[in-house]
Amino acid sequence: MENRILGLHHITAIAGDAQRNFNFYTNIMGLRFLKRTVNFDDPGTYHFYFGDERGSAGTILTFFPWGQMQPGRRGPGQATEIGYAVPAGSLDFWMKRFEDKGITYNKPAEKFGERYLTFLDPDGLKLELTEVADDPRTPWTAPEVGADVATRGFHHITLTLSDVKATAAVLTDVFGYQLVGQHVNRFRYATDALGTANIVELVAAPGEGRGHVAGGSVHHVAFRVKDDATQMYFRDLLLKKGFQVTPQIDRNYFHAMYFREPGGVLFEIATDNPGFMVDEPLAELGTHLMLPAQYESQRAAIEAHLPVLS
Ligand code: ZN
Repeated sequence: MENRILGLHHITAIAGDAQRNFNFYTNIMGLRFLKRTVNFDDPGTYHFYFGDERGSAGTILTFFPWGQMQPGRRGPGQATEIGYAVPAGSLDFWMKRFEDKGITYNKPAEKFGERYLTFLDPDGLKLELTEVADDPRTPWTAPEVGADVATRGFHHITLTLSDVKATAAVLTDVFGYQLVGQHVNRFRYATDALGTANIVELVAAPGEGRGHVAGGSVHHVAFRVKDDATQMYFRDLLLKKGFQVTPQIDRNYFHAMYFREPGGVLFEIATDNPGFMVDEPLAELGTHLMLPAQYESQRAAIEAHLPVLS
């Protein structure tokens, strides 16, 4: 039981306008704004983090809001849907909410015996709400989104692929997932290492034109490990299997390493440590512009350049 992938850690996507992105995920979706920082590889732009109260792995959705951004195109080689778990019976609330707020959505449907609905964020990013009867996670709530309807965190991520075989092998042979269901061309994999945020769905789309990652696209999918030693175990395992894996990179709130899975999706393995309270107390998460140490001396210039958030 030592070295296990503990489901999803975070999912990172590309947005356009920063304020619009902030408004959607806090006001409409009712997520907690966990962290306002910059893209560590491009400190002239923001990096936003949304999730539950403390930024628990499996609830963390992050964005690079890149301003004027061409929209991407969903297709093979990409993560194409971000699935959230919501309480049983809550889809009617969400449907009405999306209707009232002018959000594009599809009527509920069913797959793998679960009721779900899909919708689009303002940049065209596709999300999904799946009703789950007994998700034990404590939700973050907002004025219009109470505990009886609030998202619990991730339910699954969907990858669309020209050929699912090699990606499936990474999930089963490296990450410890198993095939648990098939619905037409959709294959559901899950790990029994934990009970939530533990599903990856692979959609086979042979012959479709490859997707283009830009505005409204998922940038990468991060899987969770408990600590640095486990991360290094997976690094060695991936290297042995011939993958090119980055060294460990310090992202302040977790330690990251990246590799591209054979289907073309950028995967990350991220640690639980040290977490979001490393530079702000729990009650103040998301209320300051946090910069990593290497950019602190340029704070005034960076602040002047970033869009004002109200
Ligand atoms: Zn990441």
